[in-house]
Amino acid sequence: MAKQVSIATLGSHSALNILKGAREEGFKAICVCRKQDEQVYRSFGVADEIILVDNFAELNSSKIVGQLEKLNAVIVPHGSFTAYLDIKELKLPIFGNRKLMEVEANRERQRDWLKNAGISIPAAVARPEQIDRLSIVKFHGARGGKGYFLADSYATFQRKAARLKAKGLLTESDLRNAHIQEYVIGVNTYFSFFNSVVRNELELLCIDKRYEANIDNIARLPAEDQLRIETDPTYTVTGNIPLVVRESLLPEIFAMGKKVCTSAKTYDAKGMFGPFCLESVINQDLKVVTFEISARIVAGTNTGIGTSPYAYLKHGPGMYMGRRIALELKEAQAQGMLEKVLT
Ligand code: AMP
Ligand code: AMP
Repeated sequence: MAKQVSIATLGSHSALNILKGAREEGFKAICVCRKQDEQVYRSFGVADEIILVDNFAELNSSKIVGQLEKLNAVIVPHGSFTAYLDIKELKLPIFGNRKLMEVEANRERQRDWLKNAGISIPAAVARPEQIDRLSIVKFHGARGGKGYFLADSYATFQRKAARLKAKGLLTESDLRNAHIQEYVIGVNTYFSFFNSVVRNELELLCIDKRYEANIDNIARLPAEDQLRIETDPTYTVTGNIPLVVRESLLPEIFAMGKKVCTSAKTYDAKGMFGPFCLESVINQDLKVVTFEISARIVAGTNTGIGTSPYAYLKHGPGMYMGRRIALELKEAQAQGMLEKVLT
């Protein structure tokens, strides 16, 4: 049998989840992390080996690549990879489809993917001048919702943009490249799936909602104070909350997961495999509208470390996204299918 692979990731985002899962499935777990983050990965004892770097980009240096190659490492990418690195450039094999992670990194392409899949998405607004309903103005880059704002007309857009610019939250170039879409009023709900090629099955492993500053706490201020201090709601993610949804929504949620997997084949023959997430809003008519897709593990699955109700239903105790990834790698290696889960 081929040499046992080991699992490596960058120390951030969902590394605790990934590394713990790797160890629980018997893999050697390697954490490539910055000195300032080392304490976390040591303290929780999730890594067999910690490799220190000055910055995340060093993962691609010949020194680190050489060290990881010796350990026969497979990289499990997470949100910090899409936020701070170029997935295309990663020199080591990764678990998951890197072509789809590139699609994910581009808002227009990911919108096409969701549209072609035939699932509900928010209406797009091509230019600020065309804003004619409550819309959210988003920006590119690794900002986790920072500086996003709402506008229901061009005049509001201009007024708020000027205010946020003055506060240093936005630049002119951010505004030129803004991505504007209809704001869906409802509950933000994130569905984390795992598409297994080894078992040929789509699993729903976890559902969460995000806790965002300051939108999730503005309502705690009396309206009078909100108006007086001109609070700008922002969407900076600070954490995640586990969620279970009405059971009658599950058939649609599974169908949505299947549709994006089918549509993924048009981008790459290998299709969508491993973890992915549909970031959605459920409105008062119980319509599920998806505003984003992540073709990799999302941090919301950290709420399921140990288990989530859905992972428990499917696998019994002790299954969560990081471990599910490792289990797939283990089964793929045992069945000589490793090339099907790596790119
Ligand atoms: P970080 O390394 O914490 O800067 O995160 C990398 C990327 O993942 C950023 O784009 C964040 O917005 C996103 N991210 C980090 N943590 C979470 C979380 N708990 N929920 C959702 N997104 C997150
Ligand atoms: P994103 O950077 O696309 O993940 O968006 C960050 C946050 O903005 C989400 O977690 C939601 O709270 C909110 N959001 C983004 N797009 C929409 C939308 N079309 N309708 C309602 N809320 C949204």
